[in-house]
This record gives sequence, structure tokens and C-alpha cells, in this order.
Amino acid sequence: MSGTDEDAFRIIAASPEGVLQSELWKILGVDSRKCSRIVKKLLDLNRVERIEHRQDGIKTFRLIAMKGPADPYCLLAGDELIPCVACEEDCTIEACNDLLDWIYQLAISDAEESYSTSEKTEG
Ligand code: SF4
Repeated sequence: MSGTDEDAFRIIAASPEGVLQSELWKILGVDSRKCSRIVKKLLDLNRVERIEHRQDGIKTFRLIAMKGPADPYCLLAGDELIPCVACEEDCTIEACNDLLDWIYQLAISDAEESYSTSEKTEG
């Protein structure tokens, strides 16, 4: 799986009630077509389930992570725990700066990890 696939899974897994597919592509910063491909991969790998959902009369899907052994790594961006874990706010996921900051941190830590891995392999 690519980094974006893994990011998508982490975002879905962090929300017990799941994430709407119509919101996921905005959170990931990809277009809806790419998001559909990511969701298909996650469905094929049996990592998420997809439940039909109507929002304002428009059909979309709620994506819920399949339960398996807990992977604490999914909740971490570097050393930073996803803010949703202890959040008591009324959630508007697409307007949440705390989550956005965490996603940036996730991208930075993934890039740092890739860089250090490539440095090791190049000697
Ligand atoms: S408001 Fe933000 S931090 Fe809280 S649950 Fe929603 S997305 Fe997570």
C-alpha cells in the first residue's frame, strides 16, 4: 500500500463511527477519483467496510475500519497521538485544525522515515 492508502486507513481507523467517503478525499487532499481508488484498495484488502449513507439526499458511503488487533501505530504521527482520542468537541471533521495539524505531522514523519530508509539502503 502507498503512504496515502495508509494515511486514509489511519484516518478511518481513528474514528469509531467511520468517515464519509465524501469527506475523506477532502481530508486527504486528493480528488474524489483518486479517493475511490484508495477506498477500493482498502476494501480489496478487507481493511475497511463500506456502508451506504445518504447525506442531504445524496448517496455516499460511510467507511469503517475492520476490527482486528489494535495497531497503536495507526494513531501516531511520529510521537504525536491523533487528537480525536481525547476530543470532546462537536466534531466537524473537515474544519478541524487539530486534525489538520496532525495530518501534516503524519506527512512529515512519513517523509522523514522514507528519507532515513533511503539513506540506509544507499549506504
Ligand atoms: S473535532 Fe477534530 S479532534 Fe475532535 S474528533 Fe473531530 S476531527 Fe477529531
